[in-house]
Amino acid sequence: MSRIYNFSPGPATLPEDLLKQAQAELLDWRGTGCSVMEMGHRTSEMIALTKEIENDLRELLTIPSHYHVLFLSAGASAQFAFIPMNLLRGKRTADYCLTGHWSQKAIYEARRYCDVNIATDSTDNLFTNIAPINEWRLNRDAAYVHYTPNETIAGLEFNYIPDTQGVPLVADMSSNILSQPLDVSKFGLIYACAQKNIGPAGMTIVIVRDDLVGQALPETPTLFDYAAQAKEGSMANTPPTLSWYFAGLMFKWLKQQGGLAAIATINQRKAAKLYAAIDQSSLYQNSVATAYRSIMNVPFVLKKPGLDEQFLQEARAAGLGYLKGHKLVGGMRASIYNSMPEAGVDALIEFMQRFEENN
Ligand code: PMP
Repeated sequence: MSRIYNFSPGPATLPEDLLKQAQAELLDWRGTGCSVMEMGHRTSEMIALTKEIENDLRELLTIPSHYHVLFLSAGASAQFAFIPMNLLRGKRTADYCLTGHWSQKAIYEARRYCDVNIATDSTDNLFTNIAPINEWRLNRDAAYVHYTPNETIAGLEFNYIPDTQGVPLVADMSSNILSQPLDVSKFGLIYACAQKNIGPAGMTIVIVRDDLVGQALPETPTLFDYAAQAKEGSMANTPPTLSWYFAGLMFKWLKQQGGLAAIATINQRKAAKLYAAIDQSSLYQNSVATAYRSIMNVPFVLKKPGLDEQFLQEARAAGLGYLKGHKLVGGMRASIYNSMPEAGVDALIEFMQRFEENN
């Protein structure tokens, strides 16, 4: 058996040592005589695990004590609805930044619950740039401002945290959470699905400031009510325990790597060399404004037509998998999350240069 370098956008590659640890623990987790998948979520072992993963996440992100940390299910897309349900707090409007496919989906869902004010819109530049914040149309009466710090499909990433003048800032960090240190205190709410930088799909993390919970719309189902989930320790029903376990392994792995500052240095280096290889070539192209190029998702096209399929096949034969771009934008996309070793990026660059020479 040989593992490939897997550039999938999500569910994404995981560190090999974590997979081996999970394999070793599968039949007997921590001396319990059973796997973590076979254990009641209210057992003392699982309650201890919950505390452990919350503490490790709090330590990694230096989450202030007046924030709840929730481990929920139903994916990041479910939060597109849960956020207005929980955060409107009697208000009728919310601001949204339209910078790509995922923010578009969040807007579509929010419109069921409130008037959406589009504060900035990158549609005209095909989601390759972000207007300066002094050109945004922010509404002082908005319940919150929602944005997507990293648009996974177009590879467009904010290089700053928007100052929303006291209106709570809500961020969909599905594809860049834990990729660099973060000042959580600048946010009202942060959410992220697990399947990119955390572990297998099935869990969504919500980090929410205390004062924003407790005023959900009356029709909000209990499971979708942040206050109810906070009260129940994210166990208002049976949680996706295997995803929780893997998140725990990942948080420990990140701490072993030296934490988020250390992983950010590696991430910057990986992305910089890949973008440099693209920019120096005459075959490959990335059209995103340089300042907003994603550190996690690097889309590129081949300027010479008719080569895409050959590129993907030869890459796969060279042990480089899942490089096909999203159907909305075509071309290629290399997702290089925390778990992608630098050697994987080096191998991709080497392959791309060889492919260019041969074609
Ligand atoms: N937001 C972003 C930025 C994403 O990249 C994704 C998944 N690719 C989602 C939301 C949706 O996540 P899920 O499939 O868990 O609902």
